[in-house]
Amino acid sequence: AIDFKSILENKSAVAENLKNRNSSANLELVIELYEKLLALQKEVEDLRYERNTVANKMKGKLEPTERQRLIEEGKNLKEQLVTLEEDLMKLTDALQQEAQCIPNMTHPDVPIGGEDDSAIRKTVGEPREFTFAIKDHVQLGKELDLFDFDAAAEVSGSKFYYLKNEAVLLEMALINWTLSEVMKRGFTPLTTPEIARSLVVEKCGFQPRGDNTQVYSIEGSDQCLIGTAEIPVGGIHMDSILADSSLPIKYAAFSHCFRTEAGAAGAATRGLYRVHQFSKVEMFILCRPEESNAYHQELIEIEEALFTKLGLHFKTLDMATGDLGAPAYRKYDVEAWMPGLGRYGEISSASNCTDYQSRRLGIRYRPESSANTTSTKKGKGRNLTPPEFVHTLNATACAVPRMIVCLLENYQQEDGSVVIPEPLRPFMGGIEVITPNQ
Ligand code: AMP
Repeated sequence: AIDFKSILENKSAVAENLKNRNSSANLELVIELYEKLLALQKEVEDLRYERNTVANKMKGKLEPTERQRLIEEGKNLKEQLVTLEEDLMKLTDALQQEAQCIPNMTHPDVPIGGEDDSAIRKTVGEPREFTFAIKDHVQLGKELDLFDFDAAAEVSGSKFYYLKNEAVLLEMALINWTLSEVMKRGFTPLTTPEIARSLVVEKCGFQPRGDNTQVYSIEGSDQCLIGTAEIPVGGIHMDSILADSSLPIKYAAFSHCFRTEAGAAGAATRGLYRVHQFSKVEMFILCRPEESNAYHQELIEIEEALFTKLGLHFKTLDMATGDLGAPAYRKYDVEAWMPGLGRYGEISSASNCTDYQSRRLGIRYRPESSANTTSTKKGKGRNLTPPEFVHTLNATACAVPRMIVCLLENYQQEDGSVVIPEPLRPFMGGIEVITPNQ
């Protein structure tokens, strides 16, 4: 349920938002189609009314000629209705298609601009000073026998990998440690289906089709591989009305993620940095609308606490309007220092999607407060408030490959070994250092 009424009522603010977000959505066309749809809906309703009137008249006692005339009129109206209802369906589809491109509105504090205009929210730590010649994660992984990119390229294609030896334990440790940390903060752990219907993918704000799609579609079906657990988690409460008392709902979902990385040519692609398949723990919150800004802060603070515990040097960015993607109202990215790559790289991102996804997915709740819970004859405490859309938020707790890049490159030692940060050691059977085989 896209809020066309609000788009129409706030046309100039929506147009300004499209400009700021560098969106190619065609607002004029959406409005034109919506107005046509309203007119057509009215026409269909009028015709249905006429047809019902004719049908009612026929229930009475009639002259045979009058009955014949009404039969003809009814038939005629029915034919007209069939045509108009088909037009209505086509118009609804065309409107949905165009309106899909309209992004969420934007938090007033978000900086306006593109990639270089994001604002630094916080910086933690400093780049480690090395007293020896450093290696990147690809070199370290080769010397420590942690990856196999060549076999993966043969078996699956480029940008795939096998993890080996301690790298496997490191992946499991990252996942288990992260889950244990976020469970302490009230998140319910989940594993999810990794295939979703295209419709759900679309309703979460991703484009399963088109030349530049990030989504792998399964040929001959209406299903896709998920690019993030946000999709199956967003879908759990699809088409439902949640109890006010059940909110907020907080999930921490582990899944594999699959991405085509279309359009990423020329971007950093070495080793594990940009791959087609990776594992991730994703936090997801469904909450009351008035609470989503506060939960957005909570999510970014959880991310910052996790990366601080792992001893990383990173900065948190308040992403500019041109870099938000369609669903986010506001987005914080975390970029960590990767010494081997010699630059900061994005390791996580936290978005407040307000009601953008919940409107499409049909996730509502029934607000309940003393003000709207009254005693009536029909029932004590009957809730009179109509349901409202919840807000949804998502944030990366741990995207494994880039964490491995960070940990190997930041914790390397002169002898070629890599120290495991303390919090992960209990999850790796006590291994403290990855050392080269002699
Ligand atoms: P996103 O869902 O696009 O915000 O991505 C969440 C996190 O997943 C990013 O911050 C990265 O750490 C990680 N990530 C995204 N795409 C890839 C990829 N192709 N390869 C490895 N990690 C990725």
